[in-house]
Amino acid sequence: MGLGMHANKMIDSIRLEDVSCPLGCPKDDDVVLAGRDLLYGLPGEFTVVKCRACGLMRTTARPTLQTIGFYYPDDYSPYLGTQVRQAKPGLISGIKELLKPFVKRFFNFNTQRLPYCLPPGRLLEVGCASGAFLHQMAGQSWQVEGIEFSEKAAQAAKKLGYRVHAGPLETASRPDEPFDLIIGWMVLEHLHNPVGGLQKLREWAKPGAWLVLSVPNAASQSFLFFKNNWYDLHLPNHLYHFTPHTLELVLEASGWKLEKIYHQRILVNLIASTGYFLRDKGYAKLGQKLIDVPQQAVRWNYVLYPLAWLFSVFGQTGRMTVWARVK
Ligand SMILES: [Zn+2]
Repeated sequence: MGLGMHANKMIDSIRLEDVSCPLGCPKDDDVVLAGRDLLYGLPGEFTVVKCRACGLMRTTARPTLQTIGFYYPDDYSPYLGTQVRQAKPGLISGIKELLKPFVKRFFNFNTQRLPYCLPPGRLLEVGCASGAFLHQMAGQSWQVEGIEFSEKAAQAAKKLGYRVHAGPLETASRPDEPFDLIIGWMVLEHLHNPVGGLQKLREWAKPGAWLVLSVPNAASQSFLFFKNNWYDLHLPNHLYHFTPHTLELVLEASGWKLEKIYHQRILVNLIASTGYFLRDKGYAKLGQKLIDVPQQAVRWNYVLYPLAWLFSVFGQTGRMTVWARVK
């Protein structure tokens, strides 16, 4: 009911804009699909098109930068999963802490994979949410800073003692010193201007600096199969839908060289997409159970690891982690 009121009050304030390919191609697109917000059921129908010249897919028309906040309610789930949790004292959690390094070595989900043996330096995380990753890296002697679109999440990260710009990347000002490592976990697809954003980050990077991103992979067969029920389509929040090829084009155009792509070894996207599909076909209860998996996925990630590993070999898990370097 709260969401309904939110929707009624705000829908009039959303402004849509039609945009052309950010790689500067002539405006000539194929319509790929039309879809809605399936995460919160907020109103509006959106179209995904594919540029005929370069193949980059984008959501258009789309909510403007000034009004897209409507689609990021305060309980937006990606923010909630990143709060820093204190380990509970006790024997079981003590054992868990001890086993952590071994478990980490055996199960490599590739979700936050970093270049090997980087000496600690200056790190920027774009889309740092409540600061859990900043906190983890600060614990490994990195000097960390963040940028976070959500005021509420940014406040939580600031409370941990880190320098965080509350607002979009577009309004963040130049840092005092350049960075050695720039991170964006599931953030590039949310940017209104990914080329401009990556160029800005390029200017803030030291020579030889690394850029590490994770994004959904729309080249996987599941995208073609599930279409508007594909979980990581996430309309209208996801403004771009990258493939390894189009991501490389966008990086190149922004002064970055793609070094490596790791297909993630988790099945969250496939499981939740199946949930949307079943809900769509009238199996609401079973569908919802599968949609909720991402919230409780940690255990399932371990159980399904062998299957996820197999899917990743063929680039079919629907998500990828990408390393790039200053050109
Ligand atoms: Zn294009």
